[in-house]
Amino acid sequence: MQRSLLDEVYSLSGKLTRREMLEKFKGDEKLSHKLTQALYSYLNFYTNRVREDYIIKRKECPLCDSKDFHFLFIKHGFDHMLCNNCDMIFTLQILDNEKVRHLEEGEEGDSYGQYKTLPVVNELDRKKFEIVFEQLSKYTSVKSIFDFGSQVGTFLDWASEKYAIVGHEYHQPLREIAQKKGHTVLSDGLDEISFEQEFDLITCWDYIDHVLNPKQAIKNLSKYLKRGGLFFFAINNRDSLSVRMLHEHSPIFIGPHHTMHYGINQLQRLMSGYELLHSESYVSELNWLSNWLNFKNPEVGDANLMGELLDPAKICELGMGFKVNAIFRKL
Ligand SMILES: [Zn+2]
Repeated sequence: MQRSLLDEVYSLSGKLTRREMLEKFKGDEKLSHKLTQALYSYLNFYTNRVREDYIIKRKECPLCDSKDFHFLFIKHGFDHMLCNNCDMIFTLQILDNEKVRHLEEGEEGDSYGQYKTLPVVNELDRKKFEIVFEQLSKYTSVKSIFDFGSQVGTFLDWASEKYAIVGHEYHQPLREIAQKKGHTVLSDGLDEISFEQEFDLITCWDYIDHVLNPKQAIKNLSKYLKRGGLFFFAINNRDSLSVRMLHEHSPIFIGPHHTMHYGINQLQRLMSGYELLHSESYVSELNWLSNWLNFKNPEVGDANLMGELLDPAKICELGMGFKVNAIFRKL
């Protein structure tokens, strides 16, 4: 895998301590408190596990269907398991949306939406989109896009200036913000949604770990992607150095919402019928790692960055950045 240009332009994790980053992204700390509170709202405090009446329990790996998996740790009351066949990390329990309505209404979604609209976050996101689209345009000429996990429409804002784009968001308050800006944003189930048209490109930014039935969703969406069309993912990388070192302390593990954790191998398994054209890694999380190695709170600590021990560029070259982008072509 190669180091992404985004690591230089987009990522600050190898340049600023976590404390410095929190100061730069003002408001972040308050949102992060609110978010954390909401994550524990599904818990039975007597058992320290998510409430039994809220959940469905998985009996097999949601990616490869193997029943051979083992326990890693508990986070937010959810058991995290590792599949011994395909190495996917997944939660044993998933919230039953029929009962909890967390996909449509969860308060933590609101907080994420507010975070994404901070001007400094928004500006970095726009740079990110430009760089990614320079790459995508090497492989195909893009006119029409379907995007899912569109949240408040940060990507739709940027993309609609140049392309015809349809978005998708289950969470109602987030969706309404995007719709008020004039975007078309749908909310039908991804595994049954249908379109009158075929798209040149389907995009999924930092969202596939939320999708509960990804195999059915990809299979259905693929019907509406042109032959030779592209499927783009930005994912949180389960193979990253920071996830491997921090385990349950990594922000990747959000019990109620991130129920499946992908690296490039798991993504390739999901995308059968596709050719992987390109993958790259970025965001070393050197600041989280430096805090961890100095016994400081990884999220808010101010440890000096240990760049001599851990080279951010090398981390990404090894495919061990916190983020991976991948481009697939439909065969
Ligand atoms: Zn598996």
